[in-house]
Amino acid sequence: MSAKLGGPVICPGSFDPVTLGHLDIFARASEQFESVVIAVLQNPAKSNLFSVEERMEMLKVATAEWKNIEVTSFQGLLVDFCKSRKINAIVKGLRAVSDFDYELQMAQLNHQIGGVETFFMSSNPTYSFLSSSMTKEVARYGGSVDQLVPTNVAKALKLKFGN
Ligand code: ADP
Repeated sequence: MSAKLGGPVICPGSFDPVTLGHLDIFARASEQFESVVIAVLQNPAKSNLFSVEERMEMLKVATAEWKNIEVTSFQGLLVDFCKSRKINAIVKGLRAVSDFDYELQMAQLNHQIGGVETFFMSSNPTYSFLSSSMTKEVARYGGSVDQLVPTNVAKALKLKFGN
């Protein structure tokens, strides 16, 4: 592997909960960039299944093997958080064309208002159908999520839904 691009970069999201699709992006970003900050958005307006603390803990356990990955949380504007941490770039996964509209708009906005660049990585096709909300639906009705999320998250989902 040649030299890594200067970091840190940030992977922001709700991660309610983290899936294998997210993990694939984190792992690939950690290969390319010096360091990766995973930031859980604290958004009181959104009703989440897991608390911010629970989501951060699940992310920490799931990413423990990557030494250049840090897990944190933020509230308010992403560009303000980037500024406070001297983070110059965002890394996002794109699953399908349907993600593109929104992500392009966000990327352009963040560049315009904060000068923060966004790098897109194409999702692993194995996980291009995967979202946190789909995973929760499967778990809610007692289906197996073992192929969709890390082991610690599968356990947490079983506990949450009592199955
Ligand atoms: P949001 O709450 O903004 O929908 P998530 O927390 O689910 O976002 O995910 C954060 C980011 O992770 C998304 O903006 C997207 O870039 C990426 N992502 C989500 N699911 C996948 C997946 N299955 N494969 C690759 N990237 C993904």
